[in-house]
Amino acid sequence: MNYKINTYGCQMNVHESEKIASILRGIGYTDYENSNEKDYDIIVFNTCCIRDTAEQKILSHIGELKHEKKLNPNLIIAIVGCMSQQDGKMQLLTEKYPHIDIVLGTSNIDMLAECVLNLKQSKIHTYLIDDSERPEINEGKNYYRTSGANAWVNIMYGCDNFCTYCIVPYVRGRERSRTVSDIVCEVTVLINQGYKEITLLGQNVNSYGSDKKVTGADFAELLETLAQIKGNHRIRFMTSHPKDLNSRVIEIIAKYDTLCKSIHLPIQSGSNSILKAMNRGYTREYYLNVVTKIRAIMPECGITTDIMVGFPGETETDFEDTLDIIRNVAFNSAFTYIYSVRKGTVAASLPQIPYAIKSERIQRLIKEQNLLTKISSKACEGKTYRVLVESVKSVGKVSGRTDAGRLVTFDGGEDLVGQFRNVLISKTQSASLFGTIEEN
Ligand code: SF4
Repeated sequence: MNYKINTYGCQMNVHESEKIASILRGIGYTDYENSNEKDYDIIVFNTCCIRDTAEQKILSHIGELKHEKKLNPNLIIAIVGCMSQQDGKMQLLTEKYPHIDIVLGTSNIDMLAECVLNLKQSKIHTYLIDDSERPEINEGKNYYRTSGANAWVNIMYGCDNFCTYCIVPYVRGRERSRTVSDIVCEVTVLINQGYKEITLLGQNVNSYGSDKKVTGADFAELLETLAQIKGNHRIRFMTSHPKDLNSRVIEIIAKYDTLCKSIHLPIQSGSNSILKAMNRGYTREYYLNVVTKIRAIMPECGITTDIMVGFPGETETDFEDTLDIIRNVAFNSAFTYIYSVRKGTVAASLPQIPYAIKSERIQRLIKEQNLLTKISSKACEGKTYRVLVESVKSVGKVSGRTDAGRLVTFDGGEDLVGQFRNVLISKTQSASLFGTIEEN
């Protein structure tokens, strides 16, 4: 029996797909790859609903499977995660796509094994969304991990921020942090197993432990505890919220070599009026101040961001403010995207701006950021960075990332994958760096 998991969306989902894989392997499935989808025994869609384009892509793929299901009636199709958790979505899915066998949300993925067995043994279909915000999804298990030398570790779930454009708090519920002792235990086991990079995950890691009585620490204290675990590894985290990234966290990142000098700090807009309308909780001046603090004690720290264009009410002046702030900060790289209406959020009911304007703005933004990325990469030439080799890129070439998250390609083979190497950067091209290994 073999399985396929189609994963959409963020790193949180990538890790949740590892948990789903662990569940399926626990009931006898393997990940043997088929060339045709009809030849699988189960296909799971681990879905995302952050943008409309993601949703349309998923729905179109689910629709295509109707044909495969006809060819193989034993194929089980399961839909789980953020998209199914949305209000009214389960009904839409089951009415429009009757070939779906199982629908679960974000809080009850751990029921998947039971649902599959019910279906196989008693032909019982399960369509169930759980709103109870259970803090753990199959937590504490020895997961089947699929991200090479990197291991993902959830430190918290959910989000309390309610940015007016975002659906996440509605589909992932309120913030719930795991305890320090559970996280330390999981990270220690992973390091002892040989993982070289640990990535801490949360929608807003900086608000980890807002109830310290429950977790035993806030984010700064958690980081400091984890940073002191001995071993040949590094620790990174995502995602930070600018309003909650405090000086203590910055100082601790600077203090410990095991903590990557890399911060993903979504700015979303450079306009104060748009930031206010987004309910982001900071101004452009505050954001710039955070960046100044980071650069003052970690000049080499990689700062990356997310930037949205076309939020309702965004004027040309607002957009110019965004261009201005990206020039000012000079991000290493940026994920740029067009605002997408999400039903049920505050911004969905605001007057929308025409697509042609959004499209023109994103092109200008990308052009500007590409230029900045090129300059930022160029500044790496002639410097040496410690790189964790992630994969073989082509014959005789491997690629990996620096502490700051920059992608580097250099000569090497399979034997280097999962190892650290010091690499001297000789050439850069856009966001890509090229170099040679420096002998110790
Ligand atoms: S911080 Fe804002 S954008 Fe991020 S998940 Fe929470 S509500 Fe969404």
